[in-house]
Amino acid sequence: MVLPDSAGRTAAGHLSVGGCDLGELAARHGTPLYVYCEATIRNRLRAYRAGLDAWPAGGDVLYAAKAYLSPALVRILVEEDCGVDVVSGGELEVALRCGLDPRRVSFPGNNKDAGEVAAAAHAGVGHLVIDSERELDLVNGAATDTRVRGLLRLSPGVKPDTHDYISTGQLDSKFGFGIETGQAMAALDKALTIANLELRGVHMHIGSQIFNLGSYPEAVNVVADFLVEARRKHGFVAQTFSAGGGLGIAYTDDDEPPTVSEFMRVVTESVGRAFAARDLPLPTLLVEPGRSVVGSAGVALYSVGARKEIPGVRTYVAVDGGMGDNIRPKLYGARYQPILVRAPDSPGEEVITIAGRYCESTDILVRDCSLPTLREGDIIAVPAAGAYSLAMASNYNASPRPAVVFVSGGEARVVRRRETIDDLLRSEVMDGVHSPAAS
Ligand code: PLP
Repeated sequence: MVLPDSAGRTAAGHLSVGGCDLGELAARHGTPLYVYCEATIRNRLRAYRAGLDAWPAGGDVLYAAKAYLSPALVRILVEEDCGVDVVSGGELEVALRCGLDPRRVSFPGNNKDAGEVAAAAHAGVGHLVIDSERELDLVNGAATDTRVRGLLRLSPGVKPDTHDYISTGQLDSKFGFGIETGQAMAALDKALTIANLELRGVHMHIGSQIFNLGSYPEAVNVVADFLVEARRKHGFVAQTFSAGGGLGIAYTDDDEPPTVSEFMRVVTESVGRAFAARDLPLPTLLVEPGRSVVGSAGVALYSVGARKEIPGVRTYVAVDGGMGDNIRPKLYGARYQPILVRAPDSPGEEVITIAGRYCESTDILVRDCSLPTLREGDIIAVPAAGAYSLAMASNYNASPRPAVVFVSGGEARVVRRRETIDDLLRSEVMDGVHSPAAS
C-alpha cells in the first residue's frame, strides 16, 4: 500500500496519518509540508532487525542516510538500535553530532576526498567502504593511531530490475571494483599491503527500487566465488559482508514490492547457502536499507493553485511545490498517486496533470491522474514521498525548502521548520549590497 501504516480517516472523512488530520496539519504548518509517520519508520527498522535475529554470525541494520537524514530520524535510529550508512563527510558529521555510535557507521562513496577519509579514520567508523585505488592510497596516507576498518566495494556484474539511473551492480557502473575484469582482485592485492587498513570483508549494493529479489542470490554467488579466489590467493577470509540496500516500495497501487521480511529471508538464505557451499565461514551480515525505511513513511502535502485547461489536450492543476522539494519525477520519471485530503475515497471525476510551481516545463509532479474535481486551496497528499525527495531538495527559484513534521499517536512535532529567505541569504556575501531593511 502506498500510504503509511498509520493512515486512516478522521470522523469527517479526511485523510489522516499518525492520528493527525492532514488537512489540519497543512492549515497549521503551511504547504508544501512533509509528514512522516514515526510508526512506519520504526516498523520497517524492526522488520529488518528481526530478519537478522536468526543470522548466527550477527549483523547490523545500517539505515542509508542518503534517502532522508535529519536529527529526528537519527534519534529514532538510536532508539531502534540501528546504525547508519553515510556517503559523505556531511552525512557522517550529522550522524555523529546527533549521537550515533561511530562504530555503527558504514561509509561508502565513490570519490571520498582526503578530508572525508581522515574524518572517518579519526571518528573510528565501523567500516570505510573502499571504492577506488585512490581511496586505498588515501587510507595508506592517513595519519591515524588505529587501523581503519574497511570493506571492499565489489561490483558483481548483476543488473537488477530497476531504472538504469538507480542500478549500480552492473559492470558499467561508477561504483565498486569489477570482479569479472580482475580489478576487484587487484584492489584486494593492494588493500592487503596497507598497514593502516584492517580489511574486514566485502560490500555490494546492486541498485535501488528493486522488486525482483532474484538478483540478490545471483550477486551473492558472484561475491562468494570471488571470496573463494581471495582465500586461495591470499588466505583472506571475509569476516563481514554487506548486502547493501535496494528493496523497492509501492508508489502506486500497481506496485507490489516484496516485504522487508521477504527481502531479509532471501538475503540471509542466499548468503548462508552461498558461503556454506564454498566452505566459507558465515560473515557478520550488514544491510543498508534506505527507501524501504522512510519512503512509505513520508507524505507530501501541497495546496492547489492555478488551473489551466487546454481544450482537447490536457488540464494542468498547479500546486505550490514540485521539483524543488521532489525532483524524482523529473530525474527518473517517478510516478505517484495523489490523494485529495478532504475526500480520499471519492472516485476520480477528471484526469489532470499536476504541475509544480517551478519555472521549468518539465516540473510536472504527476502526469495524467484521476482525482475528484479540485478547488483552489484544496490539499493534495502525495504518498510514498519520504525517500530521495527532501534529501535532494533545492532552493531553485529562491524557494525555501518545506517544513517537516513527524506524527505519532495523534501528536505532530515539527522537526524541521520551513526555511526563510534569511536562510537562503545566510551564506551570501552581502558586502556592498544595498539592503533597504538595514537602512
Ligand atoms: N547503500 C548504498 C551504498 C547506496 O548507494 C544506497 C542507495 O542507492 C543504499 C545503500 C540504499 O538503497 P535503498 O534506498 O534503495 O535501500
